[in-house]
Amino acid sequence: MTHGTRPGGPAAQARHTVVVGGGLAGVTTALALADAGVRVTLLEGRPRLGGLAFSFQRGDLTVDNGQHVYLRCCTAYRWFLDRIEGAALAPLQDRLDVPVLDLARPEGRRLGRLRRDALPVPLHLGRSLASYPHLSLADRARVGRAALALKGLDLADPALDTQDFGSWLAAHGQSARAVEALWDLVGIATLNAVASDASLALAAMVFKTGLLSDPGAADIGWARVPLGDLHDRLARKALDSAGVRTELRTRVTSLSANTDGQWSVQVPGETLEADAVVLAVPQREAHDLLPAGALDAPERLLEIGTAPILNVHVVYDRKVLGRPFFAALGSPVQWVFDRTDASGLREGQYLALSQSVARDEIDEPVAVLRERYLPELERLLPLARGADVRDFFVTRERTATFAPTPGVGRLRPAARTKASGLYLAGAWTATGWPATMESAVRSGVSAADAVLGALGRPRPHALFEFEEAA
Ligand SMILES: Cc1cc2nc3c(=O)[nH]c(=O)nc-3n(C[C@H](O)[C@H](O)[C@H](O)COP(=O)(O)OP(=O)(O)OC[C@H]3O[C@@H](n4cnc5c(N)ncnc54)[C@H](O)[C@@H]3O)c2cc1C
Repeated sequence: MTHGTRPGGPAAQARHTVVVGGGLAGVTTALALADAGVRVTLLEGRPRLGGLAFSFQRGDLTVDNGQHVYLRCCTAYRWFLDRIEGAALAPLQDRLDVPVLDLARPEGRRLGRLRRDALPVPLHLGRSLASYPHLSLADRARVGRAALALKGLDLADPALDTQDFGSWLAAHGQSARAVEALWDLVGIATLNAVASDASLALAAMVFKTGLLSDPGAADIGWARVPLGDLHDRLARKALDSAGVRTELRTRVTSLSANTDGQWSVQVPGETLEADAVVLAVPQREAHDLLPAGALDAPERLLEIGTAPILNVHVVYDRKVLGRPFFAALGSPVQWVFDRTDASGLREGQYLALSQSVARDEIDEPVAVLRERYLPELERLLPLARGADVRDFFVTRERTATFAPTPGVGRLRPAARTKASGLYLAGAWTATGWPATMESAVRSGVSAADAVLGALGRPRPHALFEFEEAA
């Protein structure tokens, strides 16, 4: 027996919400509403849940479309992992520790580390920064001063979104090297943009929350299983046991408001009636489905740019990397993860290279990428020089994230639309976060909260615990 279909429950129990889109935003919305006793149908066009963060089979190998990480400060995504009983499968580091290999040194490859101590903010990074070999002494001191200035920025100030992060860093004495070896090292991976293309508001949000809020905020977590185990299999299990009706391969083609205040949601061969609809689809699809008048300026959704991420996958016949991951400088390689165990590979080692800001490479032929990346991996990992490459392939996500450009903040809509009973969710909506799993989950919670408010139902406390943890 489910919450949504309990016979004899209060009338509001039977109110029906249709959630369109089974990415993290839609799954979150559906779970949150079902947990509050609302009857929910979740419609997803593809044959799986998980949206932009998914896995597929390549022979015996289970491959993620793109390496995903999260931080300890991602309290909403951590709530989501708990809710689907997946937290143990995507654990966090005990303490932030990022090995950074620099190839651009005259003396050859050099390892540095970005680590934290058990000291209060900002001293927790002080020792690591003071000994970070990829910056000069003067740059280290200037980085410290810029970090303090960043800490002083008011994230609620709308002017931040009109400026770019690169200019702000330059105005705060950051050299090109400091931008490359520190600010962009983190910023490219979290924002999917270089500093000069990123909104100061989003960059400040990432750095303030991740590095300058709580000492453990930037500890890194990632799935030790395929992403599909979390975002598809476990999510589906949680949805089923919460009583959500989930329909895969079911693409919504249109929706319309009826005169009785109900919504009609059209899918091939069926029309669903609902009291509320949450569109948890990408911004372009949302634009195409929104009825006239639902937003004041719907064309703004089309002004939100997108940015690609490329993943390069290499299977070696032997182990070439002795760490779970590292970041690189002085090389086109950005971040490298060992995916051997997660993929089910039994012999050799499988590395995934996560290449953000990949506009110049996203359409390059595999052969060109192979020519570029295999020698780079040999430079970074001496053991790769004697190893055979058993498999080499790439995954291309052309619209991996929205582009976090200055001005994007005013284009991102809130959960509520002007049409009664119609809501928006998605990492691209106005969460204040860049396009991340955290943003997707937060947007889903906001949409569920708005639906519950309109249905006159109380907010379940458990749903908002992550806000207190923040
Ligand atoms: C390669 C890559 C690497 C990334 N790395 C990270 C990372 O390290 N950390 C991080 O936090 N984030 C990362 N992200 C971003 C993160 O994956 C996304 O921000 C998040 O998954 C977006 O979730 P969403 O639910 O908002 O949207 P989506 O995942 O886009 O979900 C929307 C869903 O709607 C469905 N849909 C669309 N139209 C219809 C329709 N008409 N009817 C029914 N269904 C429809 C789609 O099929 C899709 O499943 C990465 C993304 C990519 C692609």
